[in-house]
Amino acid sequence: MNFDLLIHNVHVLTIDGAQPIVLRDHAIAIEGGKIAAIAPHIDHGHAREHIDARGMLAAPGLVNSHAHVAMGIFRGIAEDVPLDQWFNQYIWPMETNLTAEDVYWGTLLGLAEMIENGVTTVADHYFQLDQVARAVEESGMRAVLAEALFGGAGAAERLAASLAFAQQRHGSAAGRISVVLGPHSPYTCEPAFLVTVAQSAAQHGLGIHIHLSETVEQVEASLVRHSKTPVALLQECGIFDVPCIAAHVAHPAHGDLAILRQHGVGVACCPKTSMKLGIGVAPVHALRSAGVVVGIGSDGAASNNNYDILEATRLIALLEKHTLADARALPVGEALGLATHEGARVLGLADSIGTIEVGKQADLVLLKVDGTHHAPQHDLAANLLYSARSTDVDTVFVNGQILMRERRLLTIDKTRVLDEINTRCERLTQRRAGERMQQYPGA
Ligand SMILES: [Zn+2]
Repeated sequence: MNFDLLIHNVHVLTIDGAQPIVLRDHAIAIEGGKIAAIAPHIDHGHAREHIDARGMLAAPGLVNSHAHVAMGIFRGIAEDVPLDQWFNQYIWPMETNLTAEDVYWGTLLGLAEMIENGVTTVADHYFQLDQVARAVEESGMRAVLAEALFGGAGAAERLAASLAFAQQRHGSAAGRISVVLGPHSPYTCEPAFLVTVAQSAAQHGLGIHIHLSETVEQVEASLVRHSKTPVALLQECGIFDVPCIAAHVAHPAHGDLAILRQHGVGVACCPKTSMKLGIGVAPVHALRSAGVVVGIGSDGAASNNNYDILEATRLIALLEKHTLADARALPVGEALGLATHEGARVLGLADSIGTIEVGKQADLVLLKVDGTHHAPQHDLAANLLYSARSTDVDTVFVNGQILMRERRLLTIDKTRVLDEINTRCERLTQRRAGERMQQYPGA
């Protein structure tokens, strides 16, 4: 049998449940974008290209289950402010400046950073989705794209445009791009609009990606206004009748857990953003104990400051142990699982990505593990979670295509991207009184 690519002399991390297994000094063969074989030895003669990965660990590509990729353009501009000010005084005023080209370059910046951090798939929730799709297609990344939809005037036209985009782009870029609908949140979309979005999604066979129960105040306001938690409200509106990615879910009420499990809602936990804004982090143990699928998200880099999913995974593992005062909470394999196969489940992609397994798409990462911070190599999985640095990521594959090799990006011109961002950032960060995308309620 012939292969496109053979990676040999590599330690292979397979994560299945709480106990990760490392296959030492193995070979991985890739053919037609998929993992074709994993074995201690595969004959070199059968592959067109070889990578000698001595001193490296092959891990599944990381899955970022909630992001606003282009928001890297606003990194470091709204620090140390509460969420209402973050939205109303900084982000929503600045986002009125965004042109289509700004979103294109901002997305490329974020995708470049993700590739450098070993992220191979992202669920993006933003604006100007034509430009986002263009950047994703060029970068070689895998993405689930949602156009952010607000209720109010013009909502029906924006939904129609989203559906047209989905029709055009769902399944494009050799299957690397999928499209879902992106109603922003229950606090920016009135229930009637949420019902319309849910019906449209069901009619067109699309999923939904939405923000949910990010703060205690949001839950309290929903109880006052609708006599229901945000989770119960979305259930009533039919949002959970289609596959749904719910970002944050930091404050589920007891009854919410059963709703989320019953409908198979996937939760994207964004520990760094939630800790930084002081709004609370998804109770991962409680959610998982109730049977809810949980993945890891970065949210936008305007709140998260980077797209380092390994860092986010480490944070949630530490936070769970700290909060529950239990060192047994979220063991190594389960924590790494959140950033890989569980993230893939949240995105509805578990059949094709999330593990290094024969038959799955070749979305994987080679990390250098020969540094002092990996020695000795008693437990390479624990090293990955607690000792690795994102700069250990050496080579990144999506669909078998090499997106980064020896830390050099092959699909994105990083120098050009950084230049473009620098020329745009002064204009983009201007704020004019009264001009903003939306109004965060209660402020
Ligand atoms: Zn978000």
